[in-house]
Amino acid sequence: MTLRRLLLLAQLPFWVLLVAAFVLLSGALDARVQATEQAAQTRATLTGIGQVMQHVVDLETGLRGYVIAGQLEFLEPYEAARAALPTELAVLDGPGRESQRLGRIRGLIDRWQTEVALPEIAARQRSEAEAGGLVRTGQGKKILDAVRAEVAAYRAGQTQRLAALDTAASAQLRRLRLMLYGVGGAALLASIIATLVSAQRISRSFGRFTAAAQRLTDGETGVRVDTRGPTEIQTLSGAFNHMSGGLELAQGLARTHADTLAARNEWMRRLGEFGDWMQAARSLEEGARILECALPELLPGTRGTLLQHNASRNLLLPLAVWGGETGTATPPDGCWALRRGEAVTPGADRLAPACLGGPGGTYTCVPLFSHGETLGIMRLRPEIEGTGLSADLLAVLPGIVRQVSLALAGLRLQDRLLQQTIRDPLTGLFNRRRLEDELDTQTAHATASGQPLSLIALDVDHFKRLNDTFGHDAGDAALVRLSAALRDLAPPGSTPARPGGEEFSLLLPGHDLAAATALAERLRTQIAGWTLTHAGISLGQITVSLGVAEYAAPLSTPSALVRAADEALYSAKRQGRNRAVASQPLNPEAWLALTPG
Ligand code: GH3
Ligand code: MG
Ligand code: MG
Repeated sequence: MTLRRLLLLAQLPFWVLLVAAFVLLSGALDARVQATEQAAQTRATLTGIGQVMQHVVDLETGLRGYVIAGQLEFLEPYEAARAALPTELAVLDGPGRESQRLGRIRGLIDRWQTEVALPEIAARQRSEAEAGGLVRTGQGKKILDAVRAEVAAYRAGQTQRLAALDTAASAQLRRLRLMLYGVGGAALLASIIATLVSAQRISRSFGRFTAAAQRLTDGETGVRVDTRGPTEIQTLSGAFNHMSGGLELAQGLARTHADTLAARNEWMRRLGEFGDWMQAARSLEEGARILECALPELLPGTRGTLLQHNASRNLLLPLAVWGGETGTATPPDGCWALRRGEAVTPGADRLAPACLGGPGGTYTCVPLFSHGETLGIMRLRPEIEGTGLSADLLAVLPGIVRQVSLALAGLRLQDRLLQQTIRDPLTGLFNRRRLEDELDTQTAHATASGQPLSLIALDVDHFKRLNDTFGHDAGDAALVRLSAALRDLAPPGSTPARPGGEEFSLLLPGHDLAAATALAERLRTQIAGWTLTHAGISLGQITVSLGVAEYAAPLSTPSALVRAADEALYSAKRQGRNRAVASQPLNPEAWLALTPG
């Protein structure tokens, strides 16, 4: 049912009441008009019968006057009444007006005329006595009494009729009032009930909407309203449910977007944090450790290896691994990502062959570039074999790779600059500056730990002569050869260095004076046994002089240790070169150990 029909239905009893009232009132009005007309007619009849009675009196009075006086003018009322009576009686006649009684009155009057009036007039014309004799018979009085009786009866009848008409009209009015009360009350009650029922139905329907809207406002999902009710309510319910569904979808989408944004924010925070840590790193080694912690967080659900070029750029060496991956060295030529300069996924990209030395299965290689230089590759694959890298991850991967590349390039540059400041470019050994730093560190450590610490100072004998004889290049070659020997002989933890010129040093933690002197002697012997050649020309024998000192009282500062080693070296020079001299006399066992054979 439509809402309009429901509202119309609620009004229907009221309209029925109006129509019924109109019909009843109209009927009652007709009846009332009719009754009034009848009453007016009856009153006119009563007036008319009064007139008739007056004429009868005129008849009697006129006749009596004439009989007594004998003068014709006394008959005037008689004649006037006689002329008017037929018309008056004719007017009175009509339906429901006791025509029979009127007929009787008319008959009695006619009879009085014929039997009394006319004979008495005729008799009076003859004699007064004859006329008086006729009067005294009482016939006239008798007839007129009968007329009076009939007229009185007629008047009583008409008066009664008038009263009956009034009573009927009053009764009709009462009935009408009762009917109006009954019909009106019933219709009003029906109208009120219908209106209340309609209002309740509408209110209940709208109440459902209000409650549902409130639940929606409270953030509830899956809110639906009952679709029962009038057609408009059904349509509205359908629209509301559709809207609620749409709202749910929109809320779901908004939640997903919010989650995505939150995840993106978290990821950006981690990326920023990663950048900060990489900025703080001092070496590639430190950077690699940070990468190993950061990459599993930045690339969740993956495992992989970060490979960088070695110094000679002929091999990609693992720098950082994560997710349980075992990093293996790879020749750069075999990597398709490096060749093409873009991310490659062998196994998923239609044309991409597997990289030479690649891990097998489906993986993604992304080249790392910075400032036009190829740094290496990032090779990653899903943590669970057989699944692909998610689209979200692939979307953020370039950003991470860029950040990693920048950080690596920075660390490499930093490393290169550091090496330039602490290493001698010709031999690759630590320079004086680094040696001095190391002296500070190791003397402090030796002081704290009580462990022995010694320093060997080495100077090439007559090196100027070698330079002068074979040229500067030959001298350089000899220096490189010497540095290699020094590096080879240097025990782990020791610091071989080239403080300057043709002088070398070896700082030896854990070595006392005797052990250091023994090592110096071994080095001297080894060098003395060489026959060097450069550019196909024999350089002859090279010898070195070495001075050895131990960081022990009274040598209690780094500079004192260096000075003592230098003094021992000069002492060796003075003693004829090609020898190792300790800063202090050694005990006999130590001398024995030093003396070959
Ligand atoms: P001594 O046995 O007393 O040490 O004699 P020496 O000739 O070795 O000592 P001197 O101090 O007179 O000469 C050192 C020479 O070493 C002088 C210099 O030209 C040379 N020299 C210093 N640095 C280099 C270098 O880097 N390359 C080459 N080829 N020669 C160098
Ligand atoms: Mg020298
Ligand atoms: Mg020298």
